[in-house]
Amino acid sequence: MSIAEIVSYSPVSGEAVGAVPVTDAQRFDTEVRRAAAAFAEGTWSSSPLLRAQAMHRWADALEREAESIADVIVSEVGKIFFEARLEVVLAVDALRYNAGLTRHVDGQAGPMHDGSISYLERRPVGVAGFIVPWNSPVALLVRDLAPALAAGTTAVVKPSPLASLSVQRVIEVGYSAGVPEDVIRIVYGDVEIGRALVEHPAVRAIGFTGSTSTGREIMRLAANDFTRVLLELGGKSASVVFADADIPRAIDSLVASSVVISGQFCMATTRVLVERSAYPEALERVVEKARGLRVGDPYDPASNLGPLISKEHRDHVLGYVDLARQTAKVVAGGEPADEAGAGLTPTVITDVELTSPIVRDEIFGPVLTVEPFDGEADAVVAANASPYGLVSSVWTKDGDRAWRVARGIDAGTVWVNRYNRSFAEMPSGGTKDSGFGRTRGIDGLRQFTEPKHINWQIS
Ligand code: NAD
Repeated sequence: MSIAEIVSYSPVSGEAVGAVPVTDAQRFDTEVRRAAAAFAEGTWSSSPLLRAQAMHRWADALEREAESIADVIVSEVGKIFFEARLEVVLAVDALRYNAGLTRHVDGQAGPMHDGSISYLERRPVGVAGFIVPWNSPVALLVRDLAPALAAGTTAVVKPSPLASLSVQRVIEVGYSAGVPEDVIRIVYGDVEIGRALVEHPAVRAIGFTGSTSTGREIMRLAANDFTRVLLELGGKSASVVFADADIPRAIDSLVASSVVISGQFCMATTRVLVERSAYPEALERVVEKARGLRVGDPYDPASNLGPLISKEHRDHVLGYVDLARQTAKVVAGGEPADEAGAGLTPTVITDVELTSPIVRDEIFGPVLTVEPFDGEADAVVAANASPYGLVSSVWTKDGDRAWRVARGIDAGTVWVNRYNRSFAEMPSGGTKDSGFGRTRGIDGLRQFTEPKHINWQIS
């Protein structure tokens, strides 16, 4: 009997670059039970020093293998090499930060008002399932997995079928560095196996990063067994640029962030809102910068962005460009760039209504709108006009205004006078359709714990 395979294809050449076997139903159950047995056995969950040591060794090994892992990422995702290499840097940082957190005693104890004593312990939830998207398969897996391991869970990981090889490689590097094989298991497949993971009774928590529509289904499936969910979903970020800001610095940073992973990035800049008096100057610079970006071979240092993941996805993005041609204005890009697979030239759209799907939907490509606003209140209304609430930024030299606007924008993270900086120490996640729960920071670890209160009466 032949074993079904998931084949990864290069977005650049279209050629097969490797394959993994689809995990069948019986094997799937065995894998989850292996992780559950490792948790129940207790060595991993009750030994913070063992966990810290394994995570540090894994980080060291990833650092040594960074270039070769980045090659695997480029081969199946098509992002430029610099970004693929950065994924490994972020994964190493997440492992090291969370290795330290294994020794954070996150409880509470003290006398109560009635003379009794209370003790609160945060216990690891058990087996945690991780469902990973394709756009940053290594950084996003480790971002969510490392805090769970720090908390003492064991794990079952399901990569995206578009990026199985990267996840397989990273976990194999972990095994060879000393992470016990029973502590992290991998299962391969798409929707069916993802659903099965959420519904398996031994899985007590899910860390999901992916699209909002899949997140909705996962939350419904998780309801059956009250499996807790971390939902890191889509984004549609708005950046607010006031006339008193350093306009060149703001625009250069925002345009560069709009093409990270060719715009297939939940935190990519997608909307630049500019105070009306500075709008002409800012738009001119956006267009100039966007036109200067080069779509090309991921290994060419002159490339600013690689191809989109597939021609089908590019068609989806081009649908929004067509809509813009009919209902708004396309002032830069919007053209296929086939030199390296399904490329698309960085696209700038103006004259768009707040109610347009171009403003509200996650397009997931190198597409940016530039929209004028009048005053703070207008800026906040416009920034909050999409159903998403992942990240945002405010650019101004007026500190009080920055504070007011940053507080008014409904997003999990707001940067002031900078963009796209995440820290292992600080929780990140979304509001509204960008999901809920937090990864990173101590909140990231708590996500995978269950508080237990013990109260006793002193006689
Ligand atoms: P996707 O939702 O299509 O797939 C994500 C994962 O879920 C894959 O592993 C897929 O096999 C699995 N899956 C699909 N249907 C499922 C189901 N019904 N039940 C269980 N699992 C299922 O997303 P994608 O296309 O891989 O990734 C792109 C999306 O991810 C974008 O929306 C992007 O914004 C989002 N994203 C969010 C963040 C964040 O941190 N918030 C980071 C990166 C990507």
